[in-house]
Amino acid sequence: MAKQAQGAGQPPAAIQKLLRAIPKVDDVLLRFEGNTAPAALVKGAVREVLAARREDILAGRLADAAALKQERLLPQIEARLADKLRPNFRTVINATGVVIHTNLGRSLLPASAMESLLAVGTHYANLEFDLATGKRGSRYTLVEELLCELTGAEAALVVNNNAAAVLLVLETLASSREVIVSRGQLVEIGGSFRIPEVMAKSGARLVEVGATNRTHLRDYERAITDATALLLKVHTSNFRMIGFTKEVPLAELVALGAARGIPVMEDLGSGSFVDFSRYGLGKEPTVQETIAAGVDVVTFSGDKMLGGPQAGLILGKRAVIDQVKRNPMNRALRIDKFTLAALEAVLRLYFDEEQAVRTIPTLAMLTMPLAAIERRAKRLSRRLNKSLAGRGRVSLVRTSSRVGGGSLPETELPSCGVALAPKEMRVNELERRLRAAVVPVISRIENECLLLDLRTVADDEIAPLAATLTEVLAGG
Ligand SMILES: *Cc1c(COP(=O)(O)O)cnc(C)c1O
Repeated sequence: MAKQAQGAGQPPAAIQKLLRAIPKVDDVLLRFEGNTAPAALVKGAVREVLAARREDILAGRLADAAALKQERLLPQIEARLADKLRPNFRTVINATGVVIHTNLGRSLLPASAMESLLAVGTHYANLEFDLATGKRGSRYTLVEELLCELTGAEAALVVNNNAAAVLLVLETLASSREVIVSRGQLVEIGGSFRIPEVMAKSGARLVEVGATNRTHLRDYERAITDATALLLKVHTSNFRMIGFTKEVPLAELVALGAARGIPVMEDLGSGSFVDFSRYGLGKEPTVQETIAAGVDVVTFSGDKMLGGPQAGLILGKRAVIDQVKRNPMNRALRIDKFTLAALEAVLRLYFDEEQAVRTIPTLAMLTMPLAAIERRAKRLSRRLNKSLAGRGRVSLVRTSSRVGGGSLPETELPSCGVALAPKEMRVNELERRLRAAVVPVISRIENECLLLDLRTVADDEIAPLAATLTEVLAGG
């Protein structure tokens, strides 16, 4: 260090002195002898804290040598170590009211799916083993029959997610050939999934038809050539066009495809087995209706409106699905045993719609009566009124939740929440600290208040939510 200090452009003597006062890593490590944490994590925590103080000195933020005493540094190192020991991937409380929150893991699984996950995770299973013949089996047969019985499809296949499903089907049916799509349906789903780009990756050539707002059957008809491999309809799940618009109904596209010998595909996006308009939500085509309209192949997500694990479901006519199954790319996109276990359990619940809506968390949250959400909000506000000791003003408010996952974008679900106006800190600061809590709380800010929508907060999360809010507002 003394040598460095002689170099050109060296820091002033006062800074040099402070830098020399930073304890040595090995000296600090002696204080952690006997600590049960992994040695590499302890060393990392020590190094990071010492490096941060060094930065502080060089940036002129630290000028008091007393701040470099081990006694002062140890609590910082312990806090850093506690951070490193906490799992990086952990549960949060979703108080945003967005039910299918892609960034928070989309759908929660029902109890039967969790039992099945635990069982196949801790035991061997017949993943690719035919129990009747004792020979190698196919993992796909485990859910194919269920999917066919539930939807009326002839055959089915499941891959990693819907983006993979679209890519795989396009690559199978239309590589180096043409796919006709309406200009109004060239959607971007987010996370860089755009229909034209997926099409390019599959090797298929996109033939856009119609105008942004209106596409007619004759537009598809005129675009058909010898190179046409597929007519593709994409469900515009995450946006709505209103005004002077026209889309060709699926049945008309199917009739055209049949007349010209060209298969028809629909990317349904969310894909649901339940007609949610019966529960007061918007009308979306169900998977059964899409199959009944005669499409050759339909794809949709497992973890959006279906409420299952992340997966891409591919259903349709046997000849087409068989072709997709034979595509070697399939192997690269296949689902694992956990997805399969969870998916089968969720699918079985759909044989009784009333049971599905009650037990599949995504469906239960989407159809939850306002009165039930209000009861939760009242429970939370009663707890907070007792525990906050005047550190914040609590009120019950009407709000609206959203479906999320790019589904039913214009649907606002009437909901009930708790608005919290902190008295001793800014609302942004409160929101930030809640995200940093041991059980992080994800919330919204509205009208200078923290807004907690109770639709997506489970009954057993109300007590920990109240405890975290109380602790954070008390400066903990
Ligand atoms: C969500 C969505 C996808 C992508 O599905 P993932 O399961 O997220 O891969 C593709 N197409 C449409 C229309 C969608 O809404």
